[in-house]
Amino acid sequence: MPDHDVAIVGAGPVGLLLACLLAQRGIDAAVFEAREGADGRSRAIGIHPPGWAALDAAGLGPAVRAEALALDGGEVICGGRVLVSLTFDEHRRVLILPQHRTDELLRARLSEIAPHALRLGRAVTGVQDGGAVVRVSLETTHEATASFVVAADGVRSGIRRRLGIGWMPRPGAGGYAMADVPDAARGARAQLYCEQDGLVESFPMPGGRRRWVASDPHRALDDAERFANAIHARTGMRPELPAGMRPTAFRAQQHRASRLVAGRIVLVGDAAHETSPIGGQGMNLGWAAAVRLAAVIERSLRTGRADLGSYEKHTLASAARAQRRSLFYMTMGRPARGPALPVRNAAIRLLGTAPLRGRTADMITMRGTG
Ligand SMILES: Cc1cc2nc3c(=O)[nH]c(=O)nc-3n(C[C@H](O)[C@H](O)[C@H](O)COP(=O)(O)OP(=O)(O)OC[C@H]3O[C@@H](n4cnc5c(N)ncnc54)[C@H](O)[C@@H]3O)c2cc1C
Repeated sequence: MPDHDVAIVGAGPVGLLLACLLAQRGIDAAVFEAREGADGRSRAIGIHPPGWAALDAAGLGPAVRAEALALDGGEVICGGRVLVSLTFDEHRRVLILPQHRTDELLRARLSEIAPHALRLGRAVTGVQDGGAVVRVSLETTHEATASFVVAADGVRSGIRRRLGIGWMPRPGAGGYAMADVPDAARGARAQLYCEQDGLVESFPMPGGRRRWVASDPHRALDDAERFANAIHARTGMRPELPAGMRPTAFRAQQHRASRLVAGRIVLVGDAAHETSPIGGQGMNLGWAAAVRLAAVIERSLRTGRADLGSYEKHTLASAARAQRRSLFYMTMGRPARGPALPVRNAAIRLLGTAPLRGRTADMITMRGTG
């Protein structure tokens, strides 16, 4: 008998959500996480409707809604002119909550339903599929065994590498700088500035904060002054970074794993697909896949037949759609000058016209992902 039904490697938002969904079904899932403490990095803030559906399925929807800011729409702006203005209907708002807080709520939910599931400070150093059972080697203890192993170990997944699974680059790369700053302005709308010198995004956050993101292809916006000046030059708005705060640089990239299943070992979340943060889809995509995977694992444990093919097919197709959407957003936000600028702006304006407005809102809120 294996030690666990499922061993999950990685307690990021996707591994944690999957563990909650499995525990709710009475499945014994252990989550091995290399870190001792929480991941405090500033990353995801946007939770789209497929993300809420996943959180609802894990019994976390009300707790997240109580803390999140519900974005009711936003504007695309260029040169002081509004090109598109969209309002999301009540049932399709984007919730804004910093990822470290979402992670805390997920951890609390998991400890409520499966108090011993999360094992911190347990780095996984290898996995070996022995047919009926998978062996998981751990840095701190000898090993654990499970019927299935799920690699939710993030974009640099060591398990993906050890299994020799390909990591295929997809179009959509760029450099950006970002800062979450105190902000007294009220309101629940986002602004995307598609300016001659490049993209600036501005999102209200709960707790009187605002996230500013600026395209930064040459990594030139690496201090508070340069970051604030660039945003001011592009938009006329100047974010006030507190003393000592530096913007965070990140490189957007897109990749997909060549396959997600190797026997009884499965990839999920960023380990399976890397989606550009522009558009805020990666975590939501991983959660939607975790919902599918929980159902497939339950069925496989019940019937004794591992049937992971449908999970792989659906998840790769969904990731491909999300990556195309991110590429589109990044392309629209590229610097544009001369005759290219009015042409690009006319294309953006079209997205906000009556026949296309609904589809544009569907695209932004990830309708159809699930
Ligand atoms: C700037 C930025 C903004 C973003 N904004 C959004 C957004 O608004 N909306 C959105 O949906 N997405 C967004 N994303 C993407 C989102 O952050 C990721 O998609 C999400 O974190 C992926 O979750 P995960 O659980 O798959 O992986 P991760 O969060 O990377 O978690 C992986 C975990 O595995 C652990 N681990 C790794 N190796 C091992 C090992 N060998 N043994 C044990 N544990 C291990 C790690 O310590 C980590 O805790 C953004 C990303 C960035 C960088």
